[in-house]
Amino acid sequence: MSLPRLYLSPPDMGGAELHYIQQAFQSNWIAPIGPNLDSFEKQFATTVGSKYAVALSSGTAALHLALRLAGVGPGDEVLCSSLTFIASASPITYVGATPVFIDSEEISWNMDPAITCEVIERKAKAGKTPMALILVHLYGQSADIAPIKACCDKYGVKLIEDAAEALGATYHSRAPGSFGVAGIHSFNGNKIITTSGGGMLVTDDEAFAQQARYLATQARDAAPHYQHSVIGYNYRLSNISASIGLGQLEGLAQKVTARRGHYQAYKEAFKNSPGIIMQPEAPWGESTHWLTCLTLDPQRTNITAEQLRLALEAENIEARPIWKPLHLQPVFKDSEYHGRGVSDRLFATGLCLPSGSAMTVADRNRVIAVVLKHFS
Ligand SMILES: *Cc1c(COP(=O)(O)O)cnc(C)c1O
Repeated sequence: MSLPRLYLSPPDMGGAELHYIQQAFQSNWIAPIGPNLDSFEKQFATTVGSKYAVALSSGTAALHLALRLAGVGPGDEVLCSSLTFIASASPITYVGATPVFIDSEEISWNMDPAITCEVIERKAKAGKTPMALILVHLYGQSADIAPIKACCDKYGVKLIEDAAEALGATYHSRAPGSFGVAGIHSFNGNKIITTSGGGMLVTDDEAFAQQARYLATQARDAAPHYQHSVIGYNYRLSNISASIGLGQLEGLAQKVTARRGHYQAYKEAFKNSPGIIMQPEAPWGESTHWLTCLTLDPQRTNITAEQLRLALEAENIEARPIWKPLHLQPVFKDSEYHGRGVSDRLFATGLCLPSGSAMTVADRNRVIAVVLKHFS
């Protein structure tokens, strides 16, 4: 008989979510507009230090709107981190543009600034400047934003940040996602906070935020009859989902502390196992460690990441490989890629461990025990 299943990153509800949902029911705001939606946007914008926040049905929708409002269209190229979830790149194809994938750097696992700037410069000189760049902050670790932003600014490439996994992280004391023309966040069930499904677009540009709201609600012109001059989408978050978000946001600091605590505890537990290398924390800020990730050094262990994953699975513990780089995905097999093999190696040797903010010490010790059994 096995112990209960331990999930990678399950939802962590506090007490306030139901209170806000009840409030929405009592006032009958069961719609994609309402007071809780307005509050959620305002509080979220304050939390991440952006001027405007637009609540949407998913992080993917937010990225789609960001690309469209950045003027990206058919024939354009968009640079994108290769080591990420596919939702970082699929919206590039929604607008008919072409993704160009960039490798990771070792110290953050995120987009390598040197390769990125080289590619932008070369393309600009050839008269084919990329229209935009999607910078992903993976596993709660901020990318090195400054050098990438400097290159983008120099050549007029629009910087869009995918902070879906990095709510609560810092880059020189500021929130990743607040540096580009727009940033996006996700409230999917497995993220740092969840609305059961949802996303947010943040920006300091008022017109950008207004246009995002307009496109997200079927692009209705200002007329009492239904009049449309462009095609929009049905991308708004509901007032009920936003109610969950309000409650979740109250617990954000505590959730980040819990996830960071898991990382520290795993690191401490594995410190005498030289074959285990933790995802580093880059010096420019704090990672949320949305997931605690590690790689196994094939020179110093005789177990692979996949064997370790299966050993955990046998104990009813969910672990996952590192994201499969997008340049290795069948759907992107013909896409342009620039790299030095870093993301390939992270994928081949990496594993993500259970990291939910509600995970108990006893549950975490179950994970540690299984891992250490293979490193004694
Ligand atoms: C989850 C995630 C997304 C997509 O967010 P959804 O709300 O699920 O659409 C995008 N990028 C990254 C890196 C993610 O982890």
